[in-house]
Amino acid sequence: MTTDNQETQNEKLDFPIVHDKCPVCGSTKRVTEMLRDEQAAKGKVPKDSPMIALRAMTPIAELPAIMLGLSMIPLLTFDFDVCANPDCGVVYCPTITRQDMPASTLQQLIGMTQTKPAGR
Ligand SMILES: [Zn+2]
Repeated sequence: MTTDNQETQNEKLDFPIVHDKCPVCGSTKRVTEMLRDEQAAKGKVPKDSPMIALRAMTPIAELPAIMLGLSMIPLLTFDFDVCANPDCGVVYCPTITRQDMPASTLQQLIGMTQTKPAGR
């Protein structure tokens, strides 16, 4: 039996997940990129330096697993930018990347390691 139904569940995400245009209006222009190009034309920044408005990193693990520092933890990085179409301006996520990171490294990254207060 064959089926033409293509709605098979996406069981696996392929990283990086890239959205190269605005999901609302389809524009490929993003605010920080446009400003980067402007600055690059003046020689102030390298032409292709990556620019994002906001970055969010989310470890996919429960806190105790991170605190124990024993396992590898998938870390998702969401890069947000704003559509440069003045009639749109939607915030979206051009790139989502995944890294698998030792929990001990993650502890340092999110400042969970105990640091002694300086002096006193
Ligand atoms: Zn848009």
